[in-house]
Amino acid sequence: MCGIVGYIGHRDAYPIIIEGLRRLEYRGYDSAGIALYDGTNLNVSKTKGKVTDLECRIEKEITINGTVGIGHTRWATHGIPNDVNAHPHYSNSGNLVIIHNGIIENYESLKKELIKRGYSFTSDTDTEILINLIEDVKQKENVKLGKAVQIALNQVVGAYAIAVFDKNKPDEIVIARLGSPLAIGIGEDEFFIASDATPFLEYTNNAIYLEDGEMAIIRRHKDIKIRKIKDDSLVNPYVQELQLNLEQIEKGGYDHFMLKEIFEQPRAIKDTFRGRLQTDKGIIKMAGVDDNLEKFLNANKIIIIACGTSWHAGLVSEYIFEDIARIPVEVEYASEFRYRNPVINENDIVIAISQSGETADTLAAIKLAKSRGAFVFGVCNVVGSSIARETHAGAYTHAGPEIGVASTKAFTTQITVLTLIALKLAKAKGTISNSDYHRNLSELELIPKKVEKALLSDSHIKTIVAIIIIAISMLFT
Ligand code: GLU
Repeated sequence: MCGIVGYIGHRDAYPIIIEGLRRLEYRGYDSAGIALYDGTNLNVSKTKGKVTDLECRIEKEITINGTVGIGHTRWATHGIPNDVNAHPHYSNSGNLVIIHNGIIENYESLKKELIKRGYSFTSDTDTEILINLIEDVKQKENVKLGKAVQIALNQVVGAYAIAVFDKNKPDEIVIARLGSPLAIGIGEDEFFIASDATPFLEYTNNAIYLEDGEMAIIRRHKDIKIRKIKDDSLVNPYVQELQLNLEQIEKGGYDHFMLKEIFEQPRAIKDTFRGRLQTDKGIIKMAGVDDNLEKFLNANKIIIIACGTSWHAGLVSEYIFEDIARIPVEVEYASEFRYRNPVINENDIVIAISQSGETADTLAAIKLAKSRGAFVFGVCNVVGSSIARETHAGAYTHAGPEIGVASTKAFTTQITVLTLIALKLAKAKGTISNSDYHRNLSELELIPKKVEKALLSDSHIKTIVAIIIIAISMLFT
């Protein structure tokens, strides 16, 4: 995971891109770089290290003028983290630059072909192969940049979010995605590009999330054109109004995002209950479940697919589903599920869990489950994300943006949602007694307060931490 930021419009691109890269730092990275077009020259500066290191270097190396540019934070997959391997990468002619998140799996065979055609490479990255492939197609086929990107991507196996710029066509940026997120912010006669919406939130609330397999040409003073990479068909852009605000993504007085997010848990759980847990009426309202209640009630088994922390939330919920709703549950790592030949029967329900709603393996597993005729229910945090769109129905957690890489409130709200579903199904199936059901509702209601109390007893937590920080292993009883 790492970051892409871009801008084209009427403002200075440099501060927008640098600040945007800083906002994406939470994703982790080992190097950073920027390309700016100042009206005459295409200036690239990049370095191993942090965004602050990049700033120091830029001041010495390049002019920071220009109203169009792209920036990148790299998490090395091909070639060590160093200045040369950092993005952006030039094509051999020096006319094109690219930034890329992801992996080009067939880069070796493409490289061999390009070497035969006279290309040479300065970095060890798969990304430099891609930009030269684009250049080669552009020259060989005599096509515009957008078309060259499309033809090249159809030869690529792998995952990518890319932004490509041509200094001879400085009024456009071409972007594309497959398996790595990319959002476009739409301002007044200006566009922003980013891996998520946080870099452009202070400028606009209107965003388009590119879907897998789509590319867009973003032109100054023109409407955005989105196409399918595979068959060139035009896609109607779906502009969403973002619910996030800047305050939500800033540290709010805490030293770290993670600390802030730990303390946000009571609020996040309350938000996840809101409108759903109606203790006074004795009901749990969840449209995604209500609309598909028959399917849930007739389910022979539930298969939960997820990765990382979401997988752990799945493991916790397995116990709850089986205990109170008496439905057998299998919890599976999405990356395993997608590469084997899973048995899915007509009456099985697949629940896919992901904080971002963009987890590539979970998305691929959803597609596989759907192709086998399964009903897929999504649990994710980011409204309008790919998983939210790809599933038949779902329930959002309302954790708010989670910036810290180690998950806190996203995990607790995932368990909150899954508990609500299990309890709702238990009631509908009659596998829980009336009194136990109502007692559970009342106890759930108390959870935010209890979490708050636990967080406030922070000297107690610090004592425990001092012990476990040096532990090699732990046994929970
Ligand atoms: N595969 C590319 C590289 O190693 C991109 C890595 C990334 O996603 O940042 O440079």
